[in-house]
Amino acid sequence: MELWFNEKQTETFGITARIRETLVVEKTEFQDLAIVDTFEFGRMLLLDGMVMTTIKDEFTYHEMMAHPVLSTHPNPKRVLIVGGGDGGVVRETLKHPKVEKVVLVDIDGKVIEYSKKYLPEISCGYSNPRVEVIVGDGFMHIHENKNQYDVVMVDSTEPVGPAVPLFERGFFQGIYEALKEDGMFVAQTDNPWFKAELIQKVNKDIKQIFPITRLYTANVPTYPSGLWTFQMGSKKYDPLTVEIDAEFINEMDTKYYTASIHKACFVLPRFVEELVK
Ligand code: SAM
Repeated sequence: MELWFNEKQTETFGITARIRETLVVEKTEFQDLAIVDTFEFGRMLLLDGMVMTTIKDEFTYHEMMAHPVLSTHPNPKRVLIVGGGDGGVVRETLKHPKVEKVVLVDIDGKVIEYSKKYLPEISCGYSNPRVEVIVGDGFMHIHENKNQYDVVMVDSTEPVGPAVPLFERGFFQGIYEALKEDGMFVAQTDNPWFKAELIQKVNKDIKQIFPITRLYTANVPTYPSGLWTFQMGSKKYDPLTVEIDAEFINEMDTKYYTASIHKACFVLPRFVEELVK
């Protein structure tokens, strides 16, 4: 008998993946967690029935969350990651030698625990001495740490359950205050096919708080629609004008991000550009 995982990405559309083996299923304090091994994408972390990351395509999202902002900021010594419990963004952040400290704040310790056990290729960065892991609410952490960080990355789940406050204007204002005077932040902001209004709302909020805001995209096949967006807010540095270290970037151990992608990812299809005009 064949076993299939189905994710309803909207009320009337979804994806399905044939499962080879179920590794863990647990209702944590915050969400339904599962890790399954699928024929097409390998091991897959699911939260509340949604694909979070997979062994086969995780590199696209984790590289595109971490490298554009860390290549733009000239001296990203202290980095905060809100969410990101699978550890993928931590692993990519550590590829930047200027980063002295990475603080990860995820509300659900079980995500970290099971990612270490079943997704070692993704969570391998947790053992690095530059990394500090805090199990807690990113919303609270942001408001309790003023003027602390050069870069903040928000790698949260969709705006449901504990992640709802992470898409509200007050959170972005809190990020502004947690950043140093030349700080930058980036957040994943879902897809333009099914969540256009979320992209527009976040963009409007960020524009009212930061002098520089930028949206860029990446291909993440197992995320809704496959076309994913990220939005940056910056106090000083503009990713479109800062001269990046192309030689360093092209030497980095990446499979998606390159110096050319750094430029190209900010070029938007017209229907996306119009969302944030
Ligand atoms: N890349 C995935 C995506 O774009 O949907 C997200 C991956 S990561 C597993 C998402 C993490 O956000 C989860 O581990 C979840 O526990 C965490 N999270 C949700 N709400 C949070 C909050 N308020 N504070 C900190 N972490 C939170």
